[in-house]
Amino acid sequence: MPTVLIIGGGVAGPASAMALQKAGLDPIVFEAYDRTADGIGANLVLAVNGRHALHELEIKSALDRGFDIPRNQYYMGNGRRLSLVPNGKLLDDGTASRAIKRGDLYVALRDEAIARGVRFEFGMRMVDAENTGDGVVARFSDGTEVKGDLLIGADGLHSTLRKIIDPDGPPPRFGRLLNTGGYTDEVDVPGVTGTENMLLGKRCFFSYVHDPDGQVWWYAAPSWQQEQSREELARTMGPDRWRAHLEELFADDDTPALDIIRATKDIWAPWPIQDLPKVPHWRSGRMLIIGDAAHAVSPAAGQGASMAIEDSVVLGQCLRDIPDVPAALARFEELRRPRVERVVAFGKRAGDLMIVPNQLRRRVRDMVLPILFRRIALNEAASLSWVYDHRLNWDETVSPSAAAA
Ligand SMILES: Cc1cc2nc3c(=O)[nH]c(=O)nc-3n(C[C@H](O)[C@H](O)[C@H](O)COP(=O)(O)OP(=O)(O)OC[C@H]3O[C@@H](n4cnc5c(N)ncnc54)[C@H](O)[C@@H]3O)c2cc1C
Repeated sequence: MPTVLIIGGGVAGPASAMALQKAGLDPIVFEAYDRTADGIGANLVLAVNGRHALHELEIKSALDRGFDIPRNQYYMGNGRRLSLVPNGKLLDDGTASRAIKRGDLYVALRDEAIARGVRFEFGMRMVDAENTGDGVVARFSDGTEVKGDLLIGADGLHSTLRKIIDPDGPPPRFGRLLNTGGYTDEVDVPGVTGTENMLLGKRCFFSYVHDPDGQVWWYAAPSWQQEQSREELARTMGPDRWRAHLEELFADDDTPALDIIRATKDIWAPWPIQDLPKVPHWRSGRMLIIGDAAHAVSPAAGQGASMAIEDSVVLGQCLRDIPDVPAALARFEELRRPRVERVVAFGKRAGDLMIVPNQLRRRVRDMVLPILFRRIALNEAASLSWVYDHRLNWDETVSPSAAAA
């Protein structure tokens, strides 16, 4: 049974481990952090296409702690209601897009993989790796060396394996937006569980949704000109300054954003929104990157985790059906690259809509928004069906491609 070293225990790591195990391989997951390091932070929406991919891997329990959000309701900063837009078409069995805290998703996928017998090694940060002809070797920060038959980098946006495969590859692209948010039980604002409220504010984009217990989950995407790392932002924007900045951004809006911010005890420190539009090299010999490491999507698309899970299914199919490892990895890239790059471009457009460059342009935007949203309401389901209606089939056989090898 070929041994697969998987670097990263986020979404793509455990999901691909389960897919590879199902395909008859022996995966081991190496995660840089101790298992107690997860469980906090932001939430995400797992879209219907990602949920369908999870179903193909027979992972049903992973989303138990989330709740369905089948629709988005848009508003302008002056409180004017725009369209109600579906969050992807429901699956045939009624499955809808689902909100879940990132940490809960990580833990659920990891626990499911462990329950299926996948080995996890925590506190193992990979620092180097190389092809050795008929295998691979991965080296870790504690000096450990591990040999395997192939190496999968599911190590996220700042992937080490990506830099090993191509040291000159492009760095992540800054989307001229920051991300922040929080949770609060201390506010009474309009809304129903299942509908995400998207507020196109006068100075900043804001989103909130009620969970089934009435807690409000929110995030905001302030426009930001200069690219700064999370650490630089923490140095220049302490919690009090950051809160004051957010309150100022929403002070003139006739929406619940300001009340929600004021009612939130712990607001997440900001971080830059980034994506990876085109990574030229995903693979080298028996090494491959997947998920955010290969094609990080702006969170504005709500598709990053779904792309990571779709990758996992397709990788499992390729390695199950194509015995030659480099040919299987080449076929994986051929099957996945066009779709993920299109989704990354869609995420960039969605993020650009959140940027509020100046008040003159914002006023022009606000004049066209009602017209734009009437059109979106009519066409959204059809125009985005290529994103949400994508369906993978685990039982379908993948054949090698002469062109890709
Ligand atoms: C605020 C925010 C909101 C988002 N919203 C959405 C959304 O609504 N919908 C959606 O689908 N996606 C969303 N995303 C994106 C989504 O979280 C990612 O696309 C998804 O987590 C990618 O999974 P991954 O496994 O590729 O990478 P990650 O989840 O980043 O996992 C990478 C893992 O690798 C580990 N690692 C890194 N380097 C090493 C190393 N050298 N050695 C060992 N381990 C290592 C890390 O510790 C981490 O556990 C959002 C992201 C953010 C930040």
